[in-house]
Order: sequence, then structure tokens, then C-alpha cells
Amino acid sequence: MGLVNPATGAEAATVSMASAATVAAAVHSAATAWPAWADTPPVRRARIMFRFKELVEAHQDALAAIITREQGKVLADARGEVARGLEIVEFATGIAHLLKGEFSDQVATGIDQYSLRQPLGVVAGITPFNFPVMVPMWMFPLALACGNTFVLKPSERDPSAALLLAQLLQQAGLPDGAFQVVQGDKTAVEALLRAPEVQALSFVGSTPIAESIYAQGCAQGKRVQALGGAKNHLVVMPDADLEQVEDALIGAAYGAAGERCMAISVAVAVGEAADALVARLQRRLAQLRVGDGADPASEMGPLVSAAHRERVLDYIHAGVAEGAQLVVDGRGLHVPGHERGFFLGPCLFDQVRPAMRVYREEIFGPVLSIVRVPDLEQALALVNGHEYGNGVALFTADGARAREFVRRVRIGMVGINVPLPVPTAYYSFGGWKRSLFGDQHIYGMEGVRFYTRYKAVLQRWGDGLRGGVQFAMPTSR
Ligand code: NAD
Repeated sequence: MGLVNPATGAEAATVSMASAATVAAAVHSAATAWPAWADTPPVRRARIMFRFKELVEAHQDALAAIITREQGKVLADARGEVARGLEIVEFATGIAHLLKGEFSDQVATGIDQYSLRQPLGVVAGITPFNFPVMVPMWMFPLALACGNTFVLKPSERDPSAALLLAQLLQQAGLPDGAFQVVQGDKTAVEALLRAPEVQALSFVGSTPIAESIYAQGCAQGKRVQALGGAKNHLVVMPDADLEQVEDALIGAAYGAAGERCMAISVAVAVGEAADALVARLQRRLAQLRVGDGADPASEMGPLVSAAHRERVLDYIHAGVAEGAQLVVDGRGLHVPGHERGFFLGPCLFDQVRPAMRVYREEIFGPVLSIVRVPDLEQALALVNGHEYGNGVALFTADGARAREFVRRVRIGMVGINVPLPVPTAYYSFGGWKRSLFGDQHIYGMEGVRFYTRYKAVLQRWGDGLRGGVQFAMPTSR
């Protein structure tokens, strides 16, 4: 398949898709490497993560350049993506501490109890196009540090960053076979789902695929966490600082051209906040600099592909047809010298209603919808009634109302006066409702639990061993 630079529309490279046999060979190598890696003391695995962290830091610009070339986002954002991925590597360097079990002395006479967490075996990651470095790094640093071997299937739309990460892991001292990259599409994913050696799957992508992979993986007896799509709201209370809200919305709705699972795609204007907010956004969007992500002057790059741009355009046409007011129309944008790039200017819809497709469905582009509601109660009803539950933000000056919002909102990640509440590495990332299928969120301690199995041990030594036959259920004596 040809790989096209989204800013120029020019084909830059090709990617060959793995067959089922290639995937089976990669899984086999990972399975062969697993026993020795699982037996490697966690502190030695941690030292490899330390070296990997230094190598990624040294290659941050190279990784960012690859991301911009294949995905399109601006370089500063691409560097930020690498930095957020590195946080998980930093967390994984503490694995010896994170894997510590529990111990209870004398749970019965002469008997102690302890617990340990052990690696699963070969685990796989299937990742989306929008974060070709960060999302894989939500998975493999912790999975490897826990003692698993890993097969990564990155998005076929921006596959190169994964290869550099694999080289850096090798340079850091990871044993051969422990980290595999297979390039591919549905065929490769299906082969991973079928492979008996693959014990667990982490998936990040759109909701229909997440749901299907969760169902198929579970039916095959695998552990699965499948993170899906989103429709994130930012609720603006009348007492919010509108200058702060304007900055927050511009960055969170139009950063990365809206191709973020935590992008804000709906602003819920409560009471009299709406008119002033719309006027501010219109003014600001007129100045937004859209261009090649590799140009340091650009604030927003192109969409990832021509097909995705068409999909976003369809939503804009649908919004207009359904009666939403397109108060900023980016469809006519022209980027000089980049006529074949997949650019779309920022779009802003006002007077959006919950029944409209632009409100209900994930657009994944630079399109923000304003919904007007009379009070916080209705804002909460709107957010809680949406099928997605990834992120939400509330901007207000009222702490008590913010606290009530946090307690009542049915969303996995909440920001109070913070527009993109992406948890740091020592917390965990995940949505509720149809934004995540599975029990554990990704990275942080939920990640450690996902990539390990719990074992409880009772032990007795010495005189207590000669207790005689006991037919009754043992109790604490
Ligand atoms: P996608 O679902 O099209 O693809 C994700 C992965 O699944 C890719 O590796 C792709 O090759 C594979 N895939 C695609 N079709 C498949 C099929 N039929 N069977 C098996 N595998 C298949 O998603 P995308 O377009 O790459 O990424 C955008 C989506 O990802 C958005 O919906 C976004 O919200 C979501 N996303 C979610 C999060 C999160 O944390 N919840 C993070 C990033 C992106």
C-alpha cells in the first residue's frame, strides 16, 4: 500500500501487509523469547527501560518528523506525543516496585500467605493512526516490564514510527524476539485473534472495531481491553473565564485537526455564555494558521487521508442539511503550494441539537459543535445520555458545582478547567460506556493488573507439616 504525506498528497513510501503466516511467525518468535524474558529479574527489565527512555529522548525529533510526515500533525504536537509516551516508559522503570505482592504472617497456625503477579506470555497491541508513538507506548513499555513479550500491529496509515521504536528497544538491550512489529490490516488482526499463544490484546481505535475485537478476543479466551471512539463535551458555565475557555476550546477542538480521541468536539454553553463564546471563537478561528505540519508556523496540519477528509466533509454537509448553523466554514481553505494536501479549515457549528448526526457521531476532524442549554442539570443530562464516555471538561468558578459535576458525570476522564484531561502515567486512561470494552483502563496500575495474572500462595513449613488427615474444610486455627 502507498504511504502518502498528508500535507503534500505525494506518495512517500510503501508498506507491505503481513499475511497470516507472517503474523504466525512473529507470534512464534515472541513465544520463543518469552520464558527467558519472564525469568529475567524485574530490576534488570527496568534497566532496559531506562536505556530505552534515554534513546527515545535522543530520537525525539526523529520520531516527531516521522509522525508529521505520515500522520500530518504539527511538529510541536508530534514532539508532545513522544513526551507523553515517554511518561509511561518512566513509570515502567519502577516495575520492581510495582510488582511487589502482599504478605500476611500467620494466617493460620504455622501458615503464611502471600501473593504475586506473573506475566501472561505473548501479548499484542493494535493501534490507531492518530498517535503512532504515544498509543503503542501506552501498552508495550508496561507489558514488557511486567515480563511479557509483545507483538505490535500499528496502523497501516503511519507504520514507520513503530519500526524506529523497535530498533531503539533492541539497542536498549531487549532480547531478540521479545518485541515484534507486524505491519498490516484486518488480515493481521484476525491472525492475532486466532493465535493460541497470544494471551491478551490491547486495542485502541474506533468503536465498531473495538467492540468486535473485544467480542472475538473474549470468545477465544483472551484477555482484552479495547478502547474506542469518543464525543467529548466541554461545559461552559456562565461564571467561567471566557478568555480561558476560548484558549482551551481552540487548542482542544482544533489541535491535531481534531484527530484526537480526547479532542473536544462539543461545547455545551450554559445560560448566557453562548453568544459571547461564539463571537470569540469566530474571531479567533479567522486567524488560525493551517499548513504543512513540518512548517513551524503552522498551528494545525492536514487530515490524515483524502478518504478521511471526504468523511469529515460529509458530516459538514449533513450538519448544514439538518439545520445547524455553520458559523465558521473551513471547506474553502486553500494552502498555497499544497494544493494536493488533505487540508480542511476549522469549522464551527452553532445551534446544534442532540438529534443531529454531527452531535451523535464521532467526526474526528476540525469541527466543533455548540449546543445551548439553560442550566447545569441539562448539561449533565446531555453528557450522561451520550453513547460515548471518554473525556469531559467543565469550566466554572464554582468549586461546589464542579464537585457535584465530577461525582455525577458518567465519563471516564474529567477535567475541571482543564480541557484535555489525559491522565498522567501513574493514573490510568480509559473511557466509560461505548468508549471502552473491558474491565481495565490502560497504563498505570490498571495496566500492571492487565498485563499480569494474580497468584495467591499459602505456605507451611516445619512442625506444622505433620498435622494428619483433615476432612473438614480448613479454617484458621
Ligand atoms: P480504526 O478502528 O480504523 O483502526 C484501528 C486499528 O484497527 C488499526 O490498526 C487498523 O489497522 C485496525 N483495523 C481497522 N479495521 C479493522 C477491521 N475491520 N478488523 C480488524 N482490525 C481493523 O481507527 P483509526 O481510524 O486508526 O483511529 C481513529 C479512531 O481511534 C477514532 O475513533 C478514535 O476515537 C479512536 N481512538 C481512541 C482512543 C482512545 O483512547 N479511546 C485513542 C486514539 C484513537
